[in-house]
Amino acid sequence: MYQLNEKIRNLKPYDPISGEYAIRLDANESFFGLPEDLRQEFAHIASELVLNRYPDPLSTEVCEAFADYYQVPVENVTAGNGSDELISIICNSFLEKGDAFLTLEPDFSMYRFYGVIAEGVPVTLQKPETLRIDVDEVIKVCREQNIKLLIFSNPCNPTSLGLGREEVRRLITSVDALVVLDEAYMDFWDQSLLPEFDKYDNLLILRTCSKAFGGAALRLGFAVGSLPLTNALKAVKSPYNLNSFTQAAGAALLRRKEESKAALQEILASKTQLLKDIKALAQKFPGQMEVFESDTNFVFIRTEEYAEIFQYMLENGIAIRKFPGYLRITAGNPEENQAVLKVLEEFFTK
Ligand code: PMP
Repeated sequence: MYQLNEKIRNLKPYDPISGEYAIRLDANESFFGLPEDLRQEFAHIASELVLNRYPDPLSTEVCEAFADYYQVPVENVTAGNGSDELISIICNSFLEKGDAFLTLEPDFSMYRFYGVIAEGVPVTLQKPETLRIDVDEVIKVCREQNIKLLIFSNPCNPTSLGLGREEVRRLITSVDALVVLDEAYMDFWDQSLLPEFDKYDNLLILRTCSKAFGGAALRLGFAVGSLPLTNALKAVKSPYNLNSFTQAAGAALLRRKEESKAALQEILASKTQLLKDIKALAQKFPGQMEVFESDTNFVFIRTEEYAEIFQYMLENGIAIRKFPGYLRITAGNPEENQAVLKVLEEFFTK
């Protein structure tokens, strides 16, 4: 009888949250649907697709649009089927069986998952009480444990905290490991290392269209790095990783610079308001919630009642994300944020 190998035997399909909820603030998506005229453009793109032919293996058009948006050379850009795919490819190809890789906790859970599937040896460094990254500690662990790959998000999902550029530079230049700097949420902050990516031969920066651009369903992410790293990544990815629709629609999305920037401003305003209002609630009910600063489009809360609050939100039609000891709430539109605040307040007064 066929036996699944041990590393996959007990895995379950990814299911962050099941069920239908009126308000979805659990996945850090943009609360904007894409504008009507862009959707019309997508419809036109779809009608013109040559579907009997394979897509462009190098996703040239969408890489050019990305390169233009962020002002980086297109030769250094690789497109992926979501940045998730890129994380998987990077772990599977830049790690060899038995290589140590370092993740910081809490951080995006898929890093460890893909690293383990790639048969790397996971090393985990717990963040301190502040949840901020202690760069000296990270450097120390990298050196002592012969870390081959370090991966972290900046700003971080789920903590919502960012590590300043100067500290990221110090980290990259102090370790021998490949540093995978996941800037999925960097559109919401201003400390990107993209403008200087080519100063480092051990750096891959990841970006995504799933958050600030409101294109999560397109599945479109990018990696930017030196030519040797980029060429290796392009060589090991599957040839047709991005379908023709995503390539063309993603390029159209990335060309709408003004609209994206306007949406981004509104998302930031929503986050700022939500953060302020949740902090006010935390003051009103002392000892119940500790609210972290936010450099992203979501708010992160430390609370002992995470499970009860999460459940109460679901019962009121609101999906958020829970972690042991914490809650993460994506900034929604003003009505959605109001609904969150109302239900939270109810929870503490009931
Ligand atoms: N990195 C981080 C830090 C994320 O939070 C996410 C999505 N939750 C991803 C990567 C994956 O994004 P995508 O595959 O949609 O590009």
